[in-house]
Amino acid sequence: MAESLTYSKEVPVAATADVLVVGGGPAGIAAAVASGRNGARTVLVERFGFLGGNATAGLVGPFMTSYSLDGKEQLIRGVFEELVQRSEELGGAIHPSKVEAGSEFSGFISYGHARVTPFDPEAVKLVAAEMCLEAGVELRLHTFMVDTLVEDGAVRGVIVASKSGLQAIRATVTVDCSADADIAARAGVPFHQGRDEDGLTQPMTLFFRIANVDDERVKQYIADHPEDPRPFASVVRAARERDEFPIPREGIGLYRTPQPGIWRINTTRLQRLDGTDVLDLTRAEIEGRRQVMFLLRFFRERCPGLENCTLLDTAATIGVRETRRIVGEYTLTADDLASGREFEDVIALCGYPIDIHSPTGSGGTMTPQHFEMANSYQIPYRCLVPVDVDGLLVAGRCVSATHEALGAIRVMPPAFAMGQAAGTAAALAVAEGVSPRRVPIRWLQETLVERGAYLGDQVTREVREQATQSTP
Ligand SMILES: Cc1cc2nc3c(=O)[nH]c(=O)nc-3n(C[C@H](O)[C@H](O)[C@H](O)COP(=O)(O)OP(=O)(O)OC[C@H]3O[C@@H](n4cnc5c(N)ncnc54)[C@H](O)[C@@H]3O)c2cc1C
Repeated sequence: MAESLTYSKEVPVAATADVLVVGGGPAGIAAAVASGRNGARTVLVERFGFLGGNATAGLVGPFMTSYSLDGKEQLIRGVFEELVQRSEELGGAIHPSKVEAGSEFSGFISYGHARVTPFDPEAVKLVAAEMCLEAGVELRLHTFMVDTLVEDGAVRGVIVASKSGLQAIRATVTVDCSADADIAARAGVPFHQGRDEDGLTQPMTLFFRIANVDDERVKQYIADHPEDPRPFASVVRAARERDEFPIPREGIGLYRTPQPGIWRINTTRLQRLDGTDVLDLTRAEIEGRRQVMFLLRFFRERCPGLENCTLLDTAATIGVRETRRIVGEYTLTADDLASGREFEDVIALCGYPIDIHSPTGSGGTMTPQHFEMANSYQIPYRCLVPVDVDGLLVAGRCVSATHEALGAIRVMPPAFAMGQAAGTAAALAVAEGVSPRRVPIRWLQETLVERGAYLGDQVTREVREQATQSTP
């Protein structure tokens, strides 16, 4: 057994909040904005010096679809839509209504890739911070959550570490948007990790951006090679046959950004690593960087349109697709997504299909043959409510879902939608003096609809009817 020691210290209480949100990624931004707008004294803790999570620190993008699978109806609106519109006003996003499936902004992928949102991470960093501040949220950047305070079976805040030292933050309700369920796991909430058969998770990827791309030449090359299921698939295959392509991929994941000549690359792949293990994260960062340099050379030598590309930047953090999934009051399944199952406690509608990058091989499930999908499917509130522990909600990548269902709802627009629901529910729980588990669902849904979320035509109709009836 590894050596251990006991460490105890008195720490100052740096802040007391009604609602504490840990993690400032898509889920955390939406949770904090929603909580603040619903009147709760809200604190948002984020380990980096800016907000956005994978959207900024991870250089991940575009925002995958916020629409139904057929690309006809926008399902994820609310805080997400506002952030997109404000980023677009800064010249830092293209609204999804203008982006077609199969286009260069969609990585030339058609299935599930209609109406994605290309964006500039710098715009999102600023817009997210402004939206939080305008909602009255106290931001604590450069602050890492290290432990959870649990009293009588309920989370009552966290211990954080920063340049100011170790501090406590007290809270009536905490929303875990850490993507890894750090707060929930440390509070004793049970969780699963990886696929059922062997616990392996989706691989990690270090994103990077290249500049000086000949946009038109890339588009022409792709148009001239319809036989390639993924961009440059035949070039990659030929190189692999000669043992000259060591990355387990079947093509190049490349996405044009709003800026001319600048593309994101989603192609490095690090497998059999655990995103909650610091030594695995360290290995992934270094091996990811080796793969970036290999790919740059490969692009210049073999990919038409990329001959003169230069490295613009690599992400500030390795991108982790999957770690812990809490056990919540309901666990979303692939079957729910296939059937479009309706839930009384629906808090979000989504259309992105199940997209599992192989934990061991070079492929993935991003085709209609892998999983049957409804045109739109629902996420119930109970997926955000952990079993056993009170005073806590979870939103984003670590909610209660199977490995397969998470493969769909893990992308950023659903994380925004879940975050908005969790932040709203947390504020309502504080206002009502109840545990988040007991928040009246209809009240939560009404508040979400009033604040621009879309929960389906039926819920919208019922909420409007109720509002008319209660108007004197
Ligand atoms: C390689 C890769 C490619 C992807 N491609 C796409 C794509 O093209 N489009 C798309 O929409 N989605 C994509 N996704 C999925 C998507 O990026 C994430 O699943 C999504 O960002 C989840 O949102 P989140 O808010 O739950 O987590 P995150 O975005 O990970 O945000 C979590 C935040 O919490 C902070 N945090 C974590 N732990 C602590 C702590 N202990 N203390 C303080 N702060 C903490 C982090 O710094 C971070 O800011 C991809 C993911 C990866 C990894």
